[in-house]
Amino acid sequence: MARIKEKLEIPEEVSRVSSVLSSTKFENYLVGGCVRDILLSKEPKDWDLTTVATPDEITPLFEHTFYENDYGTVGIVNDNPSNENLRVIEVTPFRTEGAYSDFRRPDEVKWSKTLDEDLKRRDFTINALAYDLRGGEVIDLFDGREDLKNKLIRTVGDPNERFGEDALRILRAIRLAAELNFAIESETVKAISEKKDLLSQISKERIRDEFIKIVMSDSPSVALGLATQLGLLKYISPELEKGVGVEQNKAHIYTVWEHLIRSLDYAAEKKFPLHVRIAVLLHDIAKPHTRKMINGQWTFYGHEVVGAKIARNILTDLKFPREVIEKVVKLVRWHMFFSETETISLSAVRRIVRNVGPDLIWDLMNVRSSDRTGMGRPKAVTYRLRKYHSMIEQVMRDPISVKQLNVNGGDIMSLTNSKAGPHIGSILEILLSEVLEDPKLNERSHLEKRVSDLYKLDQEELIKLGKVARKKNESEDDKEVEEIKDKYKVE
Ligand code: ATP
Ligand code: MG
Repeated sequence: MARIKEKLEIPEEVSRVSSVLSSTKFENYLVGGCVRDILLSKEPKDWDLTTVATPDEITPLFEHTFYENDYGTVGIVNDNPSNENLRVIEVTPFRTEGAYSDFRRPDEVKWSKTLDEDLKRRDFTINALAYDLRGGEVIDLFDGREDLKNKLIRTVGDPNERFGEDALRILRAIRLAAELNFAIESETVKAISEKKDLLSQISKERIRDEFIKIVMSDSPSVALGLATQLGLLKYISPELEKGVGVEQNKAHIYTVWEHLIRSLDYAAEKKFPLHVRIAVLLHDIAKPHTRKMINGQWTFYGHEVVGAKIARNILTDLKFPREVIEKVVKLVRWHMFFSETETISLSAVRRIVRNVGPDLIWDLMNVRSSDRTGMGRPKAVTYRLRKYHSMIEQVMRDPISVKQLNVNGGDIMSLTNSKAGPHIGSILEILLSEVLEDPKLNERSHLEKRVSDLYKLDQEELIKLGKVARKKNESEDDKEVEEIKDKYKVE
């Protein structure tokens, strides 16, 4: 049955927009994900209305609107919403779609006069439900309610055709299946296998947006597990697939890929933000590249250095914003901080804070606890990690960069009566290395004395000491890092 009387609970903000349209005789319906979610008693992420009106007809009816997209969607803004997802209500004219010659987007977006046409172009039956607010009726042309009941993701119409038009729907299918805990109907699964290669033609930005939704879902391992089974990982990034089935050493009961998705599930359970979740998913991404058998055990020496580089490549390819990339790269690069030190000194902790940066240090701890849980260990935060936390708190106010020293370049020039030159940087690095060891040394009169002493050294000697200090300040195992970088040809 296509129309079923049913009274759904709709927020005031949404019904108001709908009645303004209706009172102007513009037929309109609530449509898509929000209808699906209400019927599932879930809170919708966003609210969409579809209408016979065109953007030019919609805009003048409301006080605060915006319009900036290819689809004719008008955003109706509520300045004081009762809930953040009600700040913008999207109103889109009925659409029908033209041909998809590039497999990405329809060549042109055509507006239509009927709801039926609009519903027909939607991806899945459960996403093609509409609700008529005036009559209190659910409109269900493709048995979406039946699929909701049976927890099935099924395309509207022929799945081969629908994935052929827009292959992003393949990723949407696994994402929705995971978010809703639904299965994918068998003809739809078959079509995914047949059409998946079309995903290679989808823009990276669209793939990225679905990937983000997967990573931000409650149990990302469900969608990523499905993607693994269906051979879809490589369309997100070929690097993801390389850890599948890769065995590790005795300390690990899981393969590399299993460990990564289990770790990510913990990060999701803890509701960590996007950059932490991605860092967790990618922290061991280079293990397949660095794996070596030594004395009967697999080793992954340097995987965090190579991994930082691979993470950068993956995220750059997916067109992630620079800010996210930089954070993830640092978290991957430094995720091994922990196992390197058996006896933890405060100066070692200061160096870690310096390396990853004070703004990321707690995120790094969260990567660590996720990593640990993803190994199947019962305790995410151990005694050792708690000790680390308290040491971080202790050192957080200590100086960790030359900028925080109580002398600066200008002071050095006047104290030594010298002009700008390489000796300034060298002296600063040497002073920092001493202050990192003992923050009490960051005291003006002591530093002034050290400056004069150091300036007395032979210039060449001073620059050499400066270089050693810089390396030490950056990381204690710098020499080894250089070797790894050399070996894997990363910068
Ligand atoms: P979410 O809960 O993540 O918002 P959603 O199903 O609402 O999920 P949106 O991306 O907000 O997803 O899209 C809104 C609606 O637009 C969908 O429910 C679906 O009807 C339609 N839609 C979105 N993307 C496509 C697509 N690629 N092909 C066909 N229909 C689509
Ligand atoms: Mg939505």
